Amino acid sequence: MGGGIAGVTTARRLRNLAPKAQVTLVEAEPRPYYLRPGLIDVLSGDKSLDDISPYPLSWYEGQGIEYRPGSAAVGLQPALRRVFLSSGEELSYDRVLLATGAEAFRPPIPGADLPGVFTLRTAADVERIRARAEVAHAALVIGGGWLGLEAARALRACGLSVVVLERSLWPLFRQLDREGGEVLKGRLEGLGIRVIVGTSCRALEGRGQVERAVLESGEKIEAGLVVMAAGIRPRTALAAEADLAVDRGIVVDERMATSAPGVYACGDAAEWQGRVYGIIPAAREQAEVAAANMVEPGSAVYAGTVVQNRLKVAGVDLLCLGETQAQGGPGEEHRLVDPKGGSYRKLVVRQGSLVGAILLGDLSGEGAIRELIASGKPVGGLLPALLSPRD
Ligand SMILES: Cc1cc2nc3c(=O)[nH]c(=O)nc-3n(C[C@H](O)[C@H](O)[C@H](O)COP(=O)(O)OP(=O)(O)OC[C@H]3O[C@@H](n4cnc5c(N)ncnc54)[C@H](O)[C@@H]3O)c2cc1C
Repeated sequence: MGGGIAGVTTARRLRNLAPKAQVTLVEAEPRPYYLRPGLIDVLSGDKSLDDISPYPLSWYEGQGIEYRPGSAAVGLQPALRRVFLSSGEELSYDRVLLATGAEAFRPPIPGADLPGVFTLRTAADVERIRARAEVAHAALVIGGGWLGLEAARALRACGLSVVVLERSLWPLFRQLDREGGEVLKGRLEGLGIRVIVGTSCRALEGRGQVERAVLESGEKIEAGLVVMAAGIRPRTALAAEADLAVDRGIVVDERMATSAPGVYACGDAAEWQGRVYGIIPAAREQAEVAAANMVEPGSAVYAGTVVQNRLKVAGVDLLCLGETQAQGGPGEEHRLVDPKGGSYRKLVVRQGSLVGAILLGDLSGEGAIRELIASGKPVGGLLPALLSPRD
């Protein structure tokens, strides 16, 4: 259930592993799978929705996957191995996967329901934001995480003046430290994006539609378009109603099995070892494991995903790999900061091996760093050269 990257990858893998099995893919949205990261390019006008939709309906048919777009699962009865659809139909199954993804979190700010205030998760969201961008002049993005910064870049490309509001002390607060955050803020401001940090939005105001934001600092920001990019909430309702173990996400073990027999979960909906990854590489890797275990229980084990994030903002090169925060041991963090040159580099070393890196403004050495993180080989005397590769 759910035809995003997690559901599609699982369905395709099931088809390969069990060519004779009947595979049904139920998807709530009416349009076939599209690449969510591509929504940023659709928002900026660089791509169309068709450009980011790799699989036409004929693809599902060719794969032998019974595909049902526009059809939401509304109930699950694990004891009877049955799923109920919004159309009123009932489906029976041997194994079922919950790949229902996540939805954007809408912070409960007064005025958040005014016309002109959006979240950004689906193709329909982007269509609505683009329509609004045609009539608005100034945009406010609430949240200075990955999505907020990329949305800001796209809205700037639409010709709007753009302010990003981040309540922490710098953008990408969880990935960067103060120095790196300040370098990034400077880079974004160089692109004409104002970044306000250390204060949050008290209220959104306007007569009949959003016109301004009032900040906790007292400052008022004029904005006819507001995008809330304040994180995601895994879709867990179906699982919770079926009495499955649910915490932040649907709790799964290393086989991607939930607490109910025959029910698996993966992707943004799933929580593994207390963690909801919220990124495509994790959704893909979990889907491979889920599919293998759905065909032959116990045949595959998930051991976590090396996190990597690349900021897709033209003019700002930023790559975060692996663990970007030290766990507190001495000598774990190695940094090189050049605020004037607009670059920042941090390497995280644990027990002699490279476990994470942040490269901002200068991505040289990326390949070697990736290899060392993936292999876990001792970093040894390579560290100075990795830290300042141009010396
Ligand atoms: C704008 C944007 C940019 C992003 N950029 C990146 C990036 O650069 N790199 C990266 O790694 N990640 C990125 N992400 C995150 C990435 O898109 C998600 O991690 C990924 O989509 C998760 O896949 P999923 O299949 O688990 O969930 P989803 O993509 O959310 O798919 C879940 C699907 O389930 C369907 N569904 C929900 N409930 C039901 C139901 N009851 N019945 C049937 N169907 C249902 C939904 O309609 C949806 O199609 C981005 C996200 C957004 C929104």
